[in-house]
Order: sequence, then C-alpha cells, then structure tokens
Amino acid sequence: MRVKAAIAFEAGRPLEIDEVDLEGPKAGEVLVEIKATGVCHTDALALAGGNATTRLPAILGHEGAGVVVEVGRDVRSVKPGDHVIPLYVPECRECENCLSGRTNVCWSIRKTRDLGVMPDGTSRFSIRGRPLHHFMGTSTFANFTVIPEIAVAKIRPDAPFKTVCYLGCGVPTGIGAAIHSGGVRPGDRVVVFGLGGIGLNVIQGARIAGADMIVGVDINERKRDLATRLGMTHFVNAAELKDRLVPHLIELSGGGADVAFESVGQTEVMRQALECCRVGWGTCVVIGVEHGKEEMSFRPTLVRYGRVVKGSYFGGLKGRTQLPGLVDWYMDGKIKVDELVTHVMPIERINEAFDLMRSGASIRSVVTF
Ligand code: NAD
Ligand code: ZN
Repeated sequence: MRVKAAIAFEAGRPLEIDEVDLEGPKAGEVLVEIKATGVCHTDALALAGGNATTRLPAILGHEGAGVVVEVGRDVRSVKPGDHVIPLYVPECRECENCLSGRTNVCWSIRKTRDLGVMPDGTSRFSIRGRPLHHFMGTSTFANFTVIPEIAVAKIRPDAPFKTVCYLGCGVPTGIGAAIHSGGVRPGDRVVVFGLGGIGLNVIQGARIAGADMIVGVDINERKRDLATRLGMTHFVNAAELKDRLVPHLIELSGGGADVAFESVGQTEVMRQALECCRVGWGTCVVIGVEHGKEEMSFRPTLVRYGRVVKGSYFGGLKGRTQLPGLVDWYMDGKIKVDELVTHVMPIERINEAFDLMRSGASIRSVVTF
C-alpha cells in the first residue's frame, strides 16, 4: 500500500515528506495506522548521524499511537481495531531477560531492530523500488507502519491519540526512571539534570514517589515554570554557576542527592550527576543518550564509598504489561501529559518540530496525519 511518510535520506538533512510503499504484515507482525507521533531528542540524534545503530535512509519516529488495521499469521494478542502504542523495547515474555524478573530490556529482536529491518531480516518500507530502513522497530513517522506483535502495547480506546503518543517514550522513560530505576523514596532529595521532555517526567515521577526536595538543573530559564508546576522545588541554572554547580548542588541538598538523574545526553553532565550524589548510597541514573562513541569518565573514588551509577531504558518498564497502567494514570489525572505537549502540527511541518526542540521552545511537539 501507499503511505505518507517523513523520510530521513541522509544524516544532517531535513526529513522529506513523500509517499512510500509499505508491504503488509508477515507472520508475527501487525499493521498499525499511526494517528499521532511525538518528536523526541533521540530522533534528532539519529537524524544528526549521532546514533550508532541507525541505518539510513529510514523512516524515523518511536513515540506513536494508533490503531491496528491488520494482523499477520500467528498474531493472537491484538486484533484489528485495537488501540496500541508501538514499543521500541519489545516484551516477548519468553526470552531469558523477560523471564528473569530483573529487567525490562528484552533483547529478543535487537539484532534485526538495530539493522533497521523486521525480525525476518527484511524491510516493509520502500520508495521507488529502493528499500527504506525501519527505526527502533517502530518507524512512527508514517501514517501506517508494520511492527512486530511483541512490540505493541494494547491500550484503552478512550485515550486521545495526540497526547497518549507521548507515552510511547518520554512519559514512561521519565516517570519509570524515578520510580523503578532510581527507586526514589518518600523524603528523598533528588536532582534532575535537563528539564526537557524526559526530565520533566522524572520530576513528576519523583513527586509521585514522595521526594521532599526536587532540584531541577537546566541552562534554559524558560523551563522553570512548567517544572515548578510538575513538582520541582528548586531551580538551578547550570550556565550561570559553571564550575560552582556541583558544590552548590551538594550544599543545597544538605550533603548530596539521594538520587540524581541525567536527562540531557552529555557525558560531562553525567559526571556532574554522579558527583552531586551523596556518599554511601547516592545513585546517579543515566537516561541521556551519548553522541556517537563518547565515553563517560570519573575517578573510581567517586563510587568507592557506595555511590552507584546505573542506566535506565524506557524507565525500566515492561511495555506490554505496564504501559496500559500508566495510560490509566494519565486518564485518571494522576500525571500531567497534556501540559507537556506544547505543539501539535501536521506531518508536513515535522521539520519545524525538530527546530522547536533544538531551540528549546517546545517540550514535546506532536505530529498528526
Ligand atoms: P530535550 O532536548 O527535550 O531536553 C534536554 C534538556 O537539557 C533541555 O531542556 C536543555 O536546555 C537541557 N540542557 C542542555 N544542556 C544542559 C546542561 N549542560 N545542563 C543541564 N541541562 C542542559 O531532550 P529529551 O527529549 O528530554 O531527551 C533527553 C535525553 O534523553 C536525550 O539524550 C535522549 O536521547 C534521551 N532519551 C533516553 C531514553 C532512555 O530510554 N534512556 C529515552 C528517550 C530519550
Ligand atoms: Zn523477551
């Protein structure tokens, strides 16, 4: 079938809107009509050529919501008409990771996902006979896409697409990082670096977990108001403090953070997040994605006395099992999502969404079809 898509032909070039060909779902796959999709920093990183596992040309996008229109052979967990959120972290419920009870990271189809193809090794997308790669197994920058069955979460049908799509990445990544990966406890002092689409959700998660002090760190003053409305108790401008940032954060928190989060994607900031953690147990949760092959460095003495560095992927949440519950939290008003979707625009203007993110003018832009 012919579908409308935003295509990333080459790193560093804007997306191009065009019609592409999409083959129907094969065994274990579903065809989803994407109704809305958010634009995340990770898409920008991939488009800039900074994501080691992205193969171009590709259809990017990983924060969508839509409706199942057709299912391939052997698909049992969803049917046409079901509302779903595509998952870039699948949940096969069969592999060692899924059965371990210790992680949400299901690697069952990772190899093909990172090669930009479906689990059978081929792509469903092409343009004028030339194959296009899938991205993160989701490719939501198209009004129809094919996704493995194990990579869709069935959600309630009354959730509005243009906001619930944000639960495909930013919302669970931030809220889950606070509650699951970071294990924020009542009374905790928390520091969040980067108050963008992810960091603001870390703030909501920390508030729900009962943190007493939630310090937000950013270089952009404009992030302050919304962060405060979501639960931030103190704002610190990193650009003003420069070298005095870490000592200031340690003093402000009365000895260091119980949990600090990096949601920027800069290795230098990751180290600052570790450095501001309390000796003994302070935990630095790395959420941000580094550019290319950059490394995070720190002196071993920083962790010798018990500080912990850990990562968080999709907030430590199992998508098929736990995402529907987070959608309930949104629909019940327990978490704010509408306020964070600052811009909505048609797919034709998707490049504007990238500009808004780069300039810091948006929190989340959502594209509709
Ligand atoms: P964003 O661009 O919306 O937000 C980044 C924020 O960091 C902005 O507010 C910016 O002003 C601020 N910032 C920039 N430099 C800073 C500095 N030196 N100190 C403090 N703040 C600074 O991006 P986003 O969509 O929120 O994504 C954040 C990061 O999370 C990216 O690296 C993204 O790739 C990553 N990510 C990770 C996962 C995961 O599962 N681990 C999922 C999605 C996104
Ligand atoms: Zn699995």
